[in-house]
Amino acid sequence: MVLDRPGQPLRAAELPEPEPGAGEIKLAVRTCGVCRTDLHIYDSELQGEPKLPLVMGHQIVGTVVGLGEGAGRFELGERVGVPWLGWADGTCRYCRSGRENLCEHARFTGYDVDGGYAEFCVAAEDFCFPVPDLYSDAEAAPLLCAGLIGYRALRLVGEAERIGFYGFGSSAHILCQVAVHEGRRVFAFTRDGDTDGQAFARSLGAEWAGGSSELPPEKLDGAIVFAAVGPLMVQALKASAPGARVISAGIHMSEIPAFSYDLLWEERTLGSVANLTRADGNDLLRIAPEIPVRAKVTTYALEDAQRALEDFRAGKIEGSAVLVVSA
Ligand SMILES: [Zn+2]
Ligand SMILES: [Zn+2]
Repeated sequence: MVLDRPGQPLRAAELPEPEPGAGEIKLAVRTCGVCRTDLHIYDSELQGEPKLPLVMGHQIVGTVVGLGEGAGRFELGERVGVPWLGWADGTCRYCRSGRENLCEHARFTGYDVDGGYAEFCVAAEDFCFPVPDLYSDAEAAPLLCAGLIGYRALRLVGEAERIGFYGFGSSAHILCQVAVHEGRRVFAFTRDGDTDGQAFARSLGAEWAGGSSELPPEKLDGAIVFAAVGPLMVQALKASAPGARVISAGIHMSEIPAFSYDLLWEERTLGSVANLTRADGNDLLRIAPEIPVRAKVTTYALEDAQRALEDFRAGKIEGSAVLVVSA
C-alpha cells in the first residue's frame, strides 16, 4: 500500500520485491502495526521529508526469506520484528554515548526506507529483534513501537509511583500493564466522556480513569502524554506533585499553550522521548512475556490500510490496529 503524496489515500500497487543489501535481511511480512506516527506522516506533520512514494509501517513482524551479503544474525524462516529505528551510524556523538535514538544520520522504517504495509520488506539485521514465542504475529506488532517507545517514556518518568497516562490508546494500554507490574499506581485520562475507554483502562489495572480535563484524586509523581495534544502537557502539570516529570511520548504535538511558572516550580520538568534504542527494545521484549503484557488488537487486511488509519484517527480502536498480511 503506497503513499504517493501526504493526504492522498493509500494506493494498492504491485512493486518489485525489495532485495536485501549488505547486512540486510529480506522479510515476508506477516503483520504490521498502525502507529500514530503513520498518521503524522500521512498528514505531513513531521519536520523532515519522508521518502516518496513511501510504504509506511514500522511495527513489522515477518519471516526471514532472504539474507544480504554478510547477514547472518538470523536464520531463514526465523520470525523477526522490525522497529522504527531502521539504522544508526554508530559513529556520531549520540551513538557513541548510548543515545542512538538521537543519531544524526538515523534512518527510520516506513519513513526514510519502505516499511511493512507490504508483503515484503528489507531491514538492517542489527536493528531487528527476535520476537518472543508467547505472542501471535498480530499481538507482537504493537510492542515494536507503541510498546517500545512507550517503555522508553516510562523510563524517562523515573521512579514515579503515581503515574498519569494522557491518552489511553495503543501505547498506554501496553504500558499500563508494565507500570502496574512494577508496582506503580496508574491514573488514566481519556477523551472526556469516553467511558468505554475508561473502563478499558481500569480493566488493565488503572486505579482511576477519567476525562483529560479532570484532575485525579491524588497528585501525580509523573505523567506520560501519549495524545498529540499540546494543552495536555499543561493539564498534566496541573495534576502533578513537586518533582514530577511530564513526558511527551509522541513525535508530533499541537502547540503547547503558555502557562504560569507556578505550574513548573518545585522541580517539575517537561520533556519528550524520541525514537528508541536497541537496548530499550531488548529490555521490553525480555520483560513483556514475563509479565505477561498482552496487546489488544483489531486486525485489518493489508488492502484495508486506509480504513485502519481512519479508524485510528477517529479513536474507534480499543488498543492497537494491526494489518495482517500473511497468516
Ligand atoms: Zn510508531
Ligand atoms: Zn549516530
